[in-house]
Amino acid sequence: MPDILETSVDLRSDTVTRPTPGMYARMQSAPVGDDGLDGDPSVRQLEAETAAMLGKEAGLFVPSCTMANLLAVLAQARRTEQVALEGEAHMYTSERGAATFTGVFYLGLRGTAGAMDLNLLRDTLKASGHRLRTTLVALETSHNNAGGTVLPLDHMRDAHALAAQAGAAVHLDGARLCNAAVALGVAPADVACHADTVSLCLSKGLSAPVGAVLAGDRALIARARSLRRMLGGTQRQAGIMAAAGLEGVQNMVARLGEDHARARRLSQGLRQFAPLTPSDPQTNIVQVDVSATGRGSEFWVAALEQAGLRTRPWGATRLRCVTHRHIDDAAIDRAVQAFGQVLQSLAA
Ligand SMILES: *Cc1c(COP(=O)(O)O)cnc(C)c1O
Repeated sequence: MPDILETSVDLRSDTVTRPTPGMYARMQSAPVGDDGLDGDPSVRQLEAETAAMLGKEAGLFVPSCTMANLLAVLAQARRTEQVALEGEAHMYTSERGAATFTGVFYLGLRGTAGAMDLNLLRDTLKASGHRLRTTLVALETSHNNAGGTVLPLDHMRDAHALAAQAGAAVHLDGARLCNAAVALGVAPADVACHADTVSLCLSKGLSAPVGAVLAGDRALIARARSLRRMLGGTQRQAGIMAAAGLEGVQNMVARLGEDHARARRLSQGLRQFAPLTPSDPQTNIVQVDVSATGRGSEFWVAALEQAGLRTRPWGATRLRCVTHRHIDDAAIDRAVQAFGQVLQSLAA
């Protein structure tokens, strides 16, 4: 009998995506070299093409987007300086442990739908004798904790202008930047142009097995490259992974719109159940508020798993559902059915 986990619909994250057949083919035939010595040609190609897609001079292949974000901080802020972020940003809620290595203070600012309050940012950037100097502002789009929301481009432009006036740089945590660009109907470079450095995750909706790229100007990326070595992030025949990432960057961006359509289909399907309040997704993430069902998120995650649907708790009263390449319309309909089944069991 097939394992329930193998037959279940997995909406826990777009990180569960497996490599495409095209990726496996490219991994098998990728030209490789020693990226810690004189370079790996496939890594170089990934770095160059991703930088071009993002409108930046240079790119750096790293094992994870977490490392890309950390390198952006280390390369642009020094000990006793401060990074300002929206208070729900992934870099703040999930990667702040990194700050303990950097000696850089992370300041979370209140925001709405992932967009930090620009008046608070303006105040924070004001130099003053007893305050930490803010040398980096970090933005995030699409915004994970806000439910895959997309920062309006004029918000990004304004934040960048405020930072520049104060002599601070802007880093964009663009783990899902391609989702944001597709949702806005613009090129990734039209989003990335509002930041000095950008990180892009290859192993989420783009389906590569591992990796991320940090992009920025040449001098900055050279500095990040030497910092990457200090962190142990230099990899040898990394072209095998870069080849999969290249396939993601070249051929997996355009299809992200399908994931967004399926997130909307899920949200609409769940609306028929009065006690559930699904978010109205802008990209591939749907948050479902279950508080009116009288049960918390842990209960719901366990009950849905029994009904063949895998989700994750998002706080005490919400679930997080993420669509991706392995989720088709039929899977969405099964997911909606699973919610219905659990509600029915509650009524019984
Ligand atoms: C997933 C994610 C990261 C971290 O990516 P990893 O490659 O898993 O380290 C960073 N920022 C955001 C917004 C993310 O969603």
